[in-house]
Amino acid sequence: MKCIICKENKSYTNFSKEHIFPDSIGGNITLDCVCKICNDLLGSSVDSKLTNHEFVQLIRLALKIPGKSGKIPNPLGEAYIAGTQEKIRYVFDNFGNPK
Ligand SMILES: [Zn+2]
Repeated sequence: MKCIICKENKSYTNFSKEHIFPDSIGGNITLDCVCKICNDLLGSSVDSKLTNHEFVQLIRLALKIPGKSGKIPNPLGEAYIAGTQEKIRYVFDNFGNPK
């Protein structure tokens, strides 16, 4: 079986399910033609940066999409009022509802 990323032929046991969109943002479409090494590399270099980006976290909060840990991210946990040094904090429960 040939990996579509590294183009190397490997045995079937060296492959794992690659989520086209990371499962932590609700992706459920998978491919079986990416080897584990490439899948891990994609996970650490692409998926983690995408899922941890503040804009994506804001959308995950709005749509209440939990990550693998089951937590809904809160990118508004610490913010500043524009033009001031005054901090504000938005707090949400485990289901993404404002407290
Ligand atoms: Zn590969």
